[in-house]
Amino acid sequence: MTLTLVWFRQDLRLADNPALVAAARAGTVLPVYVHDPEAAGAWPPGGASRWWLHHSLASLAAALAERGLALTIRHGPALAALRTLARETGATAVRWNRRYEPALVEQDRRVKQALADDGLDIHSHKAALLHEPWTLRTGQGRAYQAFTPFWRALCRDGEPDRPLPEPAMHAPPSAPTGESLASLQLLPRVRWDEGLRAAWTPGEAGAHERLGAFLRNRLGHYADARDYPATAGTSALSPHLHFGEVSPRQVWHAVRERCAAGTGTEPLADSTGKYLSELGWREFAHHVLFHFPELPDNPLNRRFSAFPWREDPDGRLREAWQAGRTGFPLVDAGMRELWATGWMHNRVRMVAGSLLVKNLRLPWQLGERWFWDTLVDADLANNSLGWQWVAGSGADAAPYFRIFNPVRQGERFDPAGDYVTRWIPELAGLPARYRHAPWTAPADVLAEAGLTLGRDYPRPIVDLKTSRQQALEAFQRVKQGA
Ligand SMILES: Cc1cc2nc3c(=O)[nH]c(=O)nc-3n(C[C@H](O)[C@H](O)[C@H](O)COP(=O)(O)OP(=O)(O)OC[C@H]3O[C@@H](n4cnc5c(N)ncnc54)[C@H](O)[C@@H]3O)c2cc1C
Repeated sequence: MTLTLVWFRQDLRLADNPALVAAARAGTVLPVYVHDPEAAGAWPPGGASRWWLHHSLASLAAALAERGLALTIRHGPALAALRTLARETGATAVRWNRRYEPALVEQDRRVKQALADDGLDIHSHKAALLHEPWTLRTGQGRAYQAFTPFWRALCRDGEPDRPLPEPAMHAPPSAPTGESLASLQLLPRVRWDEGLRAAWTPGEAGAHERLGAFLRNRLGHYADARDYPATAGTSALSPHLHFGEVSPRQVWHAVRERCAAGTGTEPLADSTGKYLSELGWREFAHHVLFHFPELPDNPLNRRFSAFPWREDPDGRLREAWQAGRTGFPLVDAGMRELWATGWMHNRVRMVAGSLLVKNLRLPWQLGERWFWDTLVDADLANNSLGWQWVAGSGADAAPYFRIFNPVRQGERFDPAGDYVTRWIPELAGLPARYRHAPWTAPADVLAEAGLTLGRDYPRPIVDLKTSRQQALEAFQRVKQGA
C-alpha cells in the first residue's frame, strides 16, 4: 500500500480530481495544502481571492473530515514543506494537478525534479483545463493568437474526457500535525467582506449548487440574456472554476447533457454553443499565457509599449474610477458591484476597462491590478487577456478604434437603468431615459429626482467626445510607430 501526499492547490474539490483518484487507487491518501503565496512571484493572491481561499479551504477540510481524512495545512515554501511531510509520514509518492501561471510552472518543474531526486514517486495531472496549452498548435506549429481558429482546433480535437467520480479514500493510521487555517491570515482584519459573504458560497458544494441552478433556470436563455447586467443571465461560475471547486470538464458535460435532455421548445442549442465557447475563451487565455508569459505585464503588441499614457500625479482619476465616482453610471455601477461583491458582469468589465484605458488614458496594468485585488475570480490568464483585449494590445484584442461609449452601452444593455440604480440608488428618482447620462437631465427633472449633480452624484470626470478623439490620435501615433 502506497502512502501518497496529494498536494491541493487550485483544485479544491473531491470529484473529478485526477491526482486524488490516482492516489486513492494506489493506497492511502494524505491531503495537503501548502500556503506559499511567494511562489506566485509578482502575482500573489489579492484580498478578495484570499477571502475566497479561506472559505474554500474550510469547505474542503470539512468534506474530507466527513470521509475520515484530515487536510494537513503547512506554510511554504512548498518544496521544503512537502519534503518534510514525506519524511515525517513515510509517504513514498506525491501527486498534484498542474497549474499554468509562469511562476508556478517554474515552481512545479523545480519541485518535481527535487522530489524525484529524493527518490519519491512524482506525478502531475491535467485537471484545470480541457486541453493542455501545448497540445493545440497552428498549421505552422505556433501558438494561437486568435480565438476563432483556436476554438475550431479545440472542437476538432473531440469532446473532453468524461469527469471522474469522487474516489473512495483511505486515510493513513495517523495524520501529521498541521497549522490551523486561521494561521494563514487570509481573512481581512477590517471586515469589508460582508457583501462577499452575502453573494457567494465558496467550496465544491456551493459550486455545484450554482451550476445546477444555472442549468435549470438560465442556460436556455444564456445567448440572449448574457449581455444584460441587470438580469442574472450568466453562470457566475468564474470563481468556482478559478479555485477548481468545479472542473471545466464537469461544466462542459453537464451543459451538454442539459441540452440533450431539453424539451425541444427551449432555445438551448444556441445557448449551449455560446456557453461552451466561453469556456473556450478560458482555455484560450491559458494557452496565450502559457506561450506568452509576459502577458500579465507587457503588451503583446510591442508597439503599445510606447503608448502616451496620461499623467495622473495626484491619482485623482484612478481613485474616481476605483471608487465608482466617474460620473458615468454604467461604469460606476460596475465598480461598486465589484467592491461590494467581488464580481462584475462581463459587459460592464469591458465598458469600465475601456473608460479607464481609452477615455482616461491610464495604463491598462493599473486596472488589471485593481481587478486582481478586488475580484473573487481574479485569474492571471483571464484577467491579463481581458485587459489586453480592452487595451487593444493583446491576442485577438478589440481593435484600438473600438472605444465603448458608456452612455450608449448603458442605453442598449440596461435600457430601464435597473442595473445602474441597483448600485447607485441616488439615481433611482430619475426617469429611465436620463439614468445613463444624468447631466443631460433638465434642471426641473433633477430637482424632482432630488438630485444635485456634483453633490449627490459626480459630474463626468472627462468629456467623452474630446477624450475619444485624443485616444484615437494617440493610438494612431502608436500604430505608425511614431
Ligand atoms: C477587463 C477584464 C478582466 C477580466 N478578468 C477576469 C478574471 O480575472 N477572471 C475571470 O475568470 N474572468 C475574467 N474576465 C472574463 C469574464 O468577464 C468573466 O470570466 C465572466 O464575467 C465571469 O462571469 P460568469 O462566470 O458568469 O461567465 P459566463 O458567461 O457564465 O461564462 C462561463 C465561464 O467561461 C469563462 N469565461 C467567460 N468569459 C470569458 C472571457 N472573456 N475570458 C476568459 N474566460 C471567460 C469563465 O470561466 C466563466 O466562468 C475578464 C474580462 C475583462 C473584460
